[in-house]
Amino acid sequence: MNELKPFLSATRAAIRELPLYNSGLSIDYVRKHYGVEKIAKLGSNENPYGPSPKVIAAVANAAPEIAMYPEASCDSLRVVLAEYLQVAPEQLIFGNGSEDLISVAVHTFLSPGDRVVTFAPSFGLHVIWPQAVGAEVSTVSIGVDYRMDVDQVIAALTPGTRMLLFGNPSNPAGTSITAEDLRSILRHLTPETLVLFDEAYLEYAMADPSYPDFHAILAEFDIPWLMLRTFSKAYGLAGLRIGYAIASDPVMIQLMDRVRAPFNVNRLAQIGAIAALGDRAYVDTVVERTVAERERMRAALEQMGYPSAPSNANFLFLDARDNAAEVARRLLPGGVIVKPWMEPAFNTHVRVSVGSIEANDQFLAAWKALAH
Ligand SMILES: *Cc1c(COP(=O)(O)O)cnc(C)c1O
Repeated sequence: MNELKPFLSATRAAIRELPLYNSGLSIDYVRKHYGVEKIAKLGSNENPYGPSPKVIAAVANAAPEIAMYPEASCDSLRVVLAEYLQVAPEQLIFGNGSEDLISVAVHTFLSPGDRVVTFAPSFGLHVIWPQAVGAEVSTVSIGVDYRMDVDQVIAALTPGTRMLLFGNPSNPAGTSITAEDLRSILRHLTPETLVLFDEAYLEYAMADPSYPDFHAILAEFDIPWLMLRTFSKAYGLAGLRIGYAIASDPVMIQLMDRVRAPFNVNRLAQIGAIAALGDRAYVDTVVERTVAERERMRAALEQMGYPSAPSNANFLFLDARDNAAEVARRLLPGGVIVKPWMEPAFNTHVRVSVGSIEANDQFLAAWKALAH
């Protein structure tokens, strides 16, 4: 295909050099390649309990309506969620998963050459998507205690930095910033910096009574910020694809509305999210079980000599003291899927999701067999 060459070389270098996001292995793939029936899929932080039965009923009821386009601005859901969050409806934007909104925010607010700061290890898309628009991403490495060093973050926020984005709790570390550390960072921001605070694991984090109200903290400052949330994790709607952002100012939403696809959130996702918000008791049960299992797994791993980062989320991050990709591969014949970390400073670390009791036991047994 020689004729393709001029076309490809005219494509932006930022795209040609972009790393591909590692979206993990599927159950089908592992079944086929390793011939194991029972799979513990603990690589994607999915909710093993699934969504509320009320969500399933609402989505099934709405299935006959899929010939019609969805509401373009999710107005029915917007009203319910604004009331629940106690924010103005105009402060909200919805996406095809919150990943979609990372992309929309980046395309709306960044230009080629802009400086972006995030932490390492980080959620892959926090690096890949800014790079896709030609931004320069600087990473501040977390320390041996898996916590970030405020002074290093402040030092990285050089004048003109356009975006500070990070997951909190961190994906993959699971750790959270403290209220005081966030305030120290926010005090040092330059006025042209957007803070994108990705709180995908909020519902799990809130099980810890000391987890701060970061929305209230951001609102103390007269700066532009976006908080990202999702229905994919504790609500169990990952396959439906719906997330949202709260913006400090509706003007930011108006700009992002120009960039997003007009019908970026499908009809069933909007209906499912409304039903999910109507069953808080279900989410509370999911969170309670997940946190209990997380602590059981942590204790078991620690006993085997593998301490993990203190996690506020539905996963654990630990040093396997061996090449992570190799460790993950050695777990596959036992039907266990985990996520190996690929960033150079963390490439002996794996992230394991907290699944059902049965899946967690399968993982612990396979890990024990590996360690011997
Ligand atoms: C899982 C996750 C998301 C959520 O992605 P969706 O597109 O909403 O499924 C966003 N950010 C982080 C850091 C995550 O771990």
